Amino acid sequence: MADFTGKNVLVLGGSRGIGAAIVRRFATGGAKLAFTYAGSKEAAQALATETGTEAIHTDSVDRDAVIKTVASRGALDVIVINAGIGIIGDPLTLEPDAIDRMIDVNVRSPYHAAVEAARKMNDNGRIIVIGSVNGDRMPFAGGAAYALTKSAVQGMVRGLARDFGARGITVNSVQPGPTDSDMNPADGPMAGLMHSFMAIKRHARGGEVAELTAFLAGPHGAMITGSMQTIDGGFGA
Ligand code: NDP
Repeated sequence: MADFTGKNVLVLGGSRGIGAAIVRRFATGGAKLAFTYAGSKEAAQALATETGTEAIHTDSVDRDAVIKTVASRGALDVIVINAGIGIIGDPLTLEPDAIDRMIDVNVRSPYHAAVEAARKMNDNGRIIVIGSVNGDRMPFAGGAAYALTKSAVQGMVRGLARDFGARGITVNSVQPGPTDSDMNPADGPMAGLMHSFMAIKRHARGGEVAELTAFLAGPHGAMITGSMQTIDGGFGA
């Protein structure tokens, strides 16, 4: 189990779901950790108390607020950019402002957060963006805009890996498939359809995604960069 004792870690979007599992994993490993939240104040405060971490209100729609929060954490060892929203539906009727908001949260803020983190990041630091297997495969209708955001993460990760590699900083994306959370409950209406695309026909647990994230952030991840690490039960196979 990777040890993060004394490591300065920031998780963007840590109050619920996969992000909360990542907070728990790094906190258990001894990290000095802060995480952001936007809408879930009570859940964030409860998690901060449970894990001995710090919850910071920062809405990822607000690019400048995100940059400010990242800058306020000083020299980071690890940033995990998890905050994301998923809007699925008929592109002919979806609200354009809602789509743009998703692009802000899933693409615009992750890019600026990653760059800001790299300014002061310690050598051999880690930048990890939670993407999605939908960046590779979108096997049902209604997911074009969401898939667009997760494909954008792939280009960002490949490019930034080149920009920061000389300092030993790695930049990767963890790409979950269906994972049990408020966004995608294991017993939700889409679960059967999703499982039909998978080799292992169940939702992942947040803790499984967190463990892969911790591997990338730990010492064994030093030569993994510019890559997409997919954890999807074969959804994309
Ligand atoms: P949830 O909806 O369960 O949780 C989303 C988390 O992101 C919450 O902590 C939420 O905080 C935070 N968040 C959302 N919007 C904002 C915002 N504007 N500012 C700050 N924080 C925000 O989603 P998941 O845990 O399922 O998803 C986490 C990531 O994993 C996302 O990037 C998602 O795209 C990706 N993913 C998820 C999959 C799944 O099947 N669950 C599959 C593939 C990828 P708050 O409530 O405080 O606003």
